[in-house]
Amino acid sequence: MTAPTIDQLREFRLQEGFSLRQVGERMGVHSSTIGSWESGRYLATPERLQQYATALGWREQRRKPPRTVNRGAAAPATSWQEQAYCRGVDPQPFFSNDAVVQQYAKDLCRACSVTAECLEWALGWGAAQTGIAGGLTDEERSRLRRNLNRRVREAL
Ligand code: SF4
Repeated sequence: MTAPTIDQLREFRLQEGFSLRQVGERMGVHSSTIGSWESGRYLATPERLQQYATALGWREQRRKPPRTVNRGAAAPATSWQEQAYCRGVDPQPFFSNDAVVQQYAKDLCRACSVTAECLEWALGWGAAQTGIAGGLTDEERSRLRRNLNRRVREAL
């Protein structure tokens, strides 16, 4: 059987809601290794592509249209947004007012490989973003923004 391409696997991973970390754990490699294959920085061998496909349970006929949280829609598309864990999962928990459900969304953020990039975006470009982003609620981000602004003023 011919191994799928890295683009096919990446698309499938996002559609199925797998993080790089989850796939890495299944394959026994670091998430950054898979990220470097997906970004084209390093070439994955056909054997590695086949292992990746097996780890994902990849089947051509299982592919389906993507669901998105629309994270970062106001900013230019960047590679971190393409790696966002929430691109392939139900967006509801990220916008819930229920503390238990919010914690579930935060746990998803903790498993995300681009949490730092997302939080940086949410504090800047995505200031108007509601719901959980970068592992924090909008209220928590506002508090963090105020603290950062205060520290900057004190340092001047
Ligand atoms: S940190 Fe959370 S909100 Fe941000 S991209 Fe990752 S999963 Fe989505």
